[in-house]
Amino acid sequence: MEKVIIIRYSEIHLKGKNRGYFERIFALNIEKSLKGFKHETHRLSGRYLVEGFDESETDSLLERLKRVFGIHSMSVALKVNSDMDAIFTAAKDVCSANGTFKVVSHRADKTFPLNSMQISAEIGGRLISSVKNISVDVHNPQFTINIDVRENGKTLVFNEFFNGAGGMPVGTSGKGLLLISGGIDSPVAGHMIAKRGMNIDCIHFHSYPYTNMQAKDKVIELVKVLSKYTCGTRLHIFSVTHIQEEIHKKCNGEYMVTLLRRFMMRIAEKCAQKCCAQCLITGESLGQVASQTVEGITSSNSVIEKLPVLRPLCGFDKDEIIERSRDIGAYEISIQPYEDCCTVFLPKHPVIKPTMANILQEEAKLDVEALLNEAMATLEIINL
Ligand code: ATP
Ligand code: MG
Repeated sequence: MEKVIIIRYSEIHLKGKNRGYFERIFALNIEKSLKGFKHETHRLSGRYLVEGFDESETDSLLERLKRVFGIHSMSVALKVNSDMDAIFTAAKDVCSANGTFKVVSHRADKTFPLNSMQISAEIGGRLISSVKNISVDVHNPQFTINIDVRENGKTLVFNEFFNGAGGMPVGTSGKGLLLISGGIDSPVAGHMIAKRGMNIDCIHFHSYPYTNMQAKDKVIELVKVLSKYTCGTRLHIFSVTHIQEEIHKKCNGEYMVTLLRRFMMRIAEKCAQKCCAQCLITGESLGQVASQTVEGITSSNSVIEKLPVLRPLCGFDKDEIIERSRDIGAYEISIQPYEDCCTVFLPKHPVIKPTMANILQEEAKLDVEALLNEAMATLEIINL
């Protein structure tokens, strides 16, 4: 009797002719997530089977697999030879609970001498006579024993389903560039888009020496969290120190964040084109802060020339974002109190509803092209 993990897909089976492509990427992502563990993965129809692992590592494998997008559900099963005595022994093993139960059988191997109804009836009957305190309830059972007779002379027996992460395999929806700040919102935004199958590269802006090295380390830690879901991520880091100094020196202080955001978006778009990302992703949520009013978003969006900007959190409340941040394991890192460049030279009263005319008037005081070129040259890349 061997312990195995059954992996079921979510939306992949809907993808018609592209199915092979989705399955290949999905299988690759499973392998990447289990890197370092002894195991083998085999494809069955509509599912994968992970086997040959060290049983003491079952929970660690499940932990990794829970972060793989595209997995609908998983079960830890016992794999036995397809004969009724072996199947019964396994069924007894997974039937540790007291209470009402039913047996559900599935027979992929049509040469197996009993049909699925007969398998369920016989195993159910044998269980009742050998396990104490259980009884059959086919309509509303407290637990279900599943028996799956496969074509290869092997049968899988299991009683539990764990939810997978859902979504689509990362890599099947192209690549996006996430503007990641070190706050709570942007990692959640990246996670949501990765869940829809998008590969994520990250871009971060710092204002060293006004922001410190711990602020950068914090962002690296956040990108590491994200990369557990994306099977690896590249972080692009740019300095906006001189841009901020110039805005501070030459422009109305109320426009610091508005103008800085426009520079960030311009740099991000250039960076995205260099790393072949097809869109930008931000953690903006409508109305959350002064720079995220529709006027603020209009201002930062209007410097983007070609790429779409995805803002998956636009309709979310902060509470909902925090809950997701906790779920993905980013929250404790995000709340560490290091300064972000947006808080450097922060005006007492940032402009809340900037008009384009005023923004352009302030921006005209700067040599935008020169500042952009200078910032582009500060690029540092970290693979995580
Ligand atoms: P977050 O929690 O993601 O920091 P926030 O609520 O603090 O978001 P803002 O500071 O207004 O909101 O930032 C809005 C979005 O702009 C962020 O979600 C992020 O996508 C981007 N952004 C802000 N600061 C930076 C930065 N230093 N580097 C990269 N992106 C940034
Ligand atoms: Mg922020």
